[in-house]
Amino acid sequence: MARVSLRLFDTATRTVRDFVPGTPGEVGVYLCGATVQAPPHVGHVRSGIAFDVLVRWLRRTGHRVTLVRNVTDIDDKILAKAAAAGQEWWAWALANERAFTAAYDALGVLPPTYEPRATGHVPAMLDLMGRLVERGHAYTAAPGDVYFDVRSWPEYGSLTNQRVDEMTDVPEDAGSGKRDPHDFALWKAPKPGEPATASWDTPYGRGRPGWHLECSAMAHRYLGDTFDIHGGGLDLRFPHHENEQAQSRAAGYGFARYWLHNGWVTQSGAKMSKSLGNGLLVTAVLDKAPAVVVRYALTAVQYRSMLEWTDDTLAEAEATWERLAGFVQRAVERVGAASDDEVAHVVLPPAFAAALDDDLNVPAALAVVHETLRAGNSALAAGDDTAARGAMVVLRGMLDVLGLDPGSPQWSTTRGDGRTAHALDALVRAELDARAAARAARDWTTADAIRDRLTAAGIVVEDSPTGARWTLAAPATDTPED
Ligand SMILES: [Zn+2]
Repeated sequence: MARVSLRLFDTATRTVRDFVPGTPGEVGVYLCGATVQAPPHVGHVRSGIAFDVLVRWLRRTGHRVTLVRNVTDIDDKILAKAAAAGQEWWAWALANERAFTAAYDALGVLPPTYEPRATGHVPAMLDLMGRLVERGHAYTAAPGDVYFDVRSWPEYGSLTNQRVDEMTDVPEDAGSGKRDPHDFALWKAPKPGEPATASWDTPYGRGRPGWHLECSAMAHRYLGDTFDIHGGGLDLRFPHHENEQAQSRAAGYGFARYWLHNGWVTQSGAKMSKSLGNGLLVTAVLDKAPAVVVRYALTAVQYRSMLEWTDDTLAEAEATWERLAGFVQRAVERVGAASDDEVAHVVLPPAFAAALDDDLNVPAALAVVHETLRAGNSALAAGDDTAARGAMVVLRGMLDVLGLDPGSPQWSTTRGDGRTAHALDALVRAELDARAAARAARDWTTADAIRDRLTAAGIVVEDSPTGARWTLAAPATDTPED
């Protein structure tokens, strides 16, 4: 049933490889989620969106996907920021976790199958750490300080193609007693002043988990010894993913079969960071543009490319989105809506499928979307209802894979089957009928007052030879026809 034509760039081999799931038709994906120390900016959510497109494409091509995206709810920054704010660390972490969830939901990122929190998986971490100590790959340097012994694992460095002696990025662990400066922490003794609630008893002393250990333990807990795809942002390759792989393999597990890394959101070529200010917090960006426009802007670039965020990014995305959504709306008005089921099963153009199979080449896939849009607009202009309807359904099907279907419950403002939309349409029609009656009676004052009332309510009225039609006002941008 499932097709095997997908090819993905695998960071571990630095090549584009045929993607073949370990179990036919089933795909396990582990995506490193947020360290919830602050609310998300658009750079943070790009990863969620990039892997959302992967998951949607795998499901569309007949795979059952299990997506695990963790929450790192304890770390140095969370403890420090919570203390500075006079809050409990878990309250700080939870508030930011909710901000991430709200951002993902607003941007149409499908929820993961499982969303484990690090602090809920201490026993799984202790189990993994125990295996590493037993096998001679980890040691206790001081009570609560446990390190992975990189010299004990000859493969260390293989994910990022580095030799240990050439690694310049040395962990800054405060603990002393490391055998090698490159050894990294599996468990960390509490620092002076840290709350007692932020550490756990272990056979090696009291402490809290190191970041890398969490992901290895949670991936194993939910996806088993070996799973298909491990993903995350480009900056996680080293040391985080190198360390995850070393721990898991040294513990005797196969771990990830493919490694995928998404590019950053950049400004003037530099990685977006908090130093650039709060203007790019997801909440701030959502104040400037509809969520679907933000989603379009973050989806339209191939996931491995850097996404340069400029003053024009949102305006360009908005203009394109208006053309796509506008066509779907006009087509629905002419030929009626398509059901979600029809959209989910429509055969997609081979060129679109080929583009996504080519390491999720979204820009090439969007070129096919725009060809379909042009064909659909031409069909509407020519009065060819069959062709217009066909184009509308295929267009929605393609955009659904990208999480951008204008007719989906998430993004539709004029769903014909929605009770709200139905009620709104009835009320607006009543106003338009009253306006038509006033005009027929040459009562221009009343007609203008009705129109002004609708405009104030965010409703745009267009008069046409077949009567007035209405739309919800779009945020102000020119929307040239395709
Ligand atoms: Zn991770």
